[in-house]
This record gives sequence, C-alpha cells and structure tokens, in this order.
Amino acid sequence: MNEQPVFVTPSEVIEYLYCPRFIYYMNVLNIDQHEHRRTLVNKGRDIHNLKLVRNKDYLRQRIGAISKETDVYLTSDKLSLVGKVDEVLFLENGEAAPLDYKFTFWEDKLYKTLKIQQTLYALLIEEKYDMPVNKAFLVYVRSKNKLIEVPIGGDLKKEALEIVSVIFDILNLNYFPAETKTKTKCSDCTYRNLCSN
Ligand code: SF4
Repeated sequence: MNEQPVFVTPSEVIEYLYCPRFIYYMNVLNIDQHEHRRTLVNKGRDIHNLKLVRNKDYLRQRIGAISKETDVYLTSDKLSLVGKVDEVLFLENGEAAPLDYKFTFWEDKLYKTLKIQQTLYALLIEEKYDMPVNKAFLVYVRSKNKLIEVPIGGDLKKEALEIVSVIFDILNLNYFPAETKTKTKCSDCTYRNLCSN
C-alpha cells in the first residue's frame, strides 16, 4: 500500500465530488484514470489565453481590488491542504479574495464543485495572509470574461472542511467509499470494470 498522504488539493476534492471512488482508485490503489477527469478539470487552460485575459485590469477595478498577486501557491499544515490559485485580490474593504479563470462558457449555474474549490482557496488565503475572505471571483473567458461573484459563508467553509476530512478518512483508513449516485457517470468511466456496478 502507498504511503499515507499529507496533503489534499482542491483538484482532488473536485474529483471526490464527481465520484467518491475516484480518490480511492487514484490515491489509495494508485490506478490512473488516463487523465480523463483531470483533463475536464483543467479543460481549456491555456497559458497564452491566461496572459491575455490577465491584462484586463477593468475586471479587478469592477471588483474593487487595490492590488493582486498572481499564480499564488497556497499551503496549510493545519488544514493539510495545498493549492495554486490564479490570483489573490486584496480589496478596498480589507478583505482578500481568490480569482480563478475558467476557460469555459458560463452556463447560468454555479456548480457545487466550484463553490467548494473556491472555499478551499478562501480558507488557504485566510491563513496565509491573516485576512478575512468572504467571497471568490470566477472569470468565464469564453463568455466575454463574465465575472461571477461566489459568496463564501461560514456554512460553506464548514462543509468544505468536512469534505476534506472524509477524503482523509478514505486515504488514511483506506475505506472503500460508496459509488456516485449519478449512474450516468459510470458509462464512460475508466474504473467501471473495477466498480462492477
Ligand atoms: S464506475 Fe461509477 S461509481 Fe465507479 S468510479 Fe466510475 S463513476 Fe464512480
């Protein structure tokens, strides 16, 4: 069996939310999924496009950001989390906020996976900068840089930490989690033969 993990990343949390068994197969059994989901998670990310959109300072002016840091590596021993966010914004009201570029279209829906991902970034930023983080921002590049604000309240922070705790149980106790409730996800899944649904 592989060594016990020390850190979880927001990307791994997204994998877990897609199907809890992904974490078990990937991180406990070390069976790769041929990049299928990872490709989806990072869909459309393109360094060139990122540079272009980053030059659009009007986005940050609309948010009320007075300064920013880019490509920020975040780590917390306390939370056992690591991640890298596109930007950390420092706002006029004394708060900080993550900003993440999504190279997809805005679908008029804020997915739970993204809310949890941004909440984890928020928790990491709070610890790193000792500043409150109560919102995050997403920029949907393929929808004319549509800017979406994600409120991040205490309940969401608590839920995100609970999810991380469950993931650590899977990793450290090696327990086999329940399958996804959405069976349509299984039809083209790398692991469908292992799951024997
Ligand atoms: S086959 Fe279904 S339950 Fe099994 S890992 Fe894939 S998505 Fe999850």
